[in-house]
Amino acid sequence: MSEIQSLDDVVARATAEIEAVESEPELDSVRVAYLGKKGVITAQLKSIGSLPVEERPIAGKAITSARSVIEKLLKTKRQALLQIVHTKRLESERIDVTLPGRRNFSGGPHPLTRTLMRMQEIFLSIGFDIAVGPEIEDDYHNFEALNIPENHPARAMQDTFYFPDGRLLRTHTSPVQIRYMGTHKPPIRVVAPGRVYRCDSDITHTPMFHQLEGLVVDETTTFADLKGVLEYFVSEFFEQQLKLRFRPSYFPFTEPSAEVDISCVFCHGDGCNVCKRSGWLEVLGCGMVHPALYKDVGIDGERFVGYAFGLGVERFTMLRYGVNDLRLFFKNDLDMLSQFK
Ligand SMILES: [Zn+2]
Repeated sequence: MSEIQSLDDVVARATAEIEAVESEPELDSVRVAYLGKKGVITAQLKSIGSLPVEERPIAGKAITSARSVIEKLLKTKRQALLQIVHTKRLESERIDVTLPGRRNFSGGPHPLTRTLMRMQEIFLSIGFDIAVGPEIEDDYHNFEALNIPENHPARAMQDTFYFPDGRLLRTHTSPVQIRYMGTHKPPIRVVAPGRVYRCDSDITHTPMFHQLEGLVVDETTTFADLKGVLEYFVSEFFEQQLKLRFRPSYFPFTEPSAEVDISCVFCHGDGCNVCKRSGWLEVLGCGMVHPALYKDVGIDGERFVGYAFGLGVERFTMLRYGVNDLRLFFKNDLDMLSQFK
């Protein structure tokens, strides 16, 4: 009877072990420990031969019954484990079709790009072409050809980034005028937008900024044409009828030269903080092309007359969108930029 007693123990132990199992490999090692070639039950079956003949059937029956109990427990446990794996997989692969979709953030042009595009559209619509030139310039195109010879005080007005070989980052878009006049015959009617560079950085200056330059050369060009074009441009750009005021000024490449003020886009001339109570905003420089500029480009200065103007793209963008800090344009702050989409 001792074998039967110990068989009950074996089954109880196997039951507890199977119960505690948490994975397939663990379950398999329990199976091997009891039913494998060297397992407890297998050893019991082998030991039957050493029993007295009359005891063998009873012992055999008890052992096979214990074995089938253990087999059944193993089978049940295996199914339970499979079920757990299956459930976990279903959980992890579950797709909740009621969840809101992931939002796609769409970008938009930078406010400065937007302004440049808008300016070009306006000028294209009144017959101007777009001209471009290199940002790395030589001294000749950036200064000399624009009537700014060496030692000219106007060079001190522009802090220039020089390369070791004497070339430089253009300080204005004016060299494009020289390059364009060198390759095109009048009538000329172009605007040149682009990046320019100066060694300058404070609340109102950044080392890189944008200008848009205009140039018209024809036989009958007058200052009145210049005024008409600028008036049309600023009124279109700011989408309101603006007054213009010309103040005499000096630029080496134009004669006569003028600074242009527009009536304040915020207070319409009544006076506010932006225009410092004056009702006017300074936005442009312009003038009639200095005859010295025609010298090297093969344009007959007796026959042709031209005007030129230049403006700061950042300034126009700030006024149009009410941005009060220039540096915001270059901070890559998405919250700020996304307002312009
Ligand atoms: Zn104002």
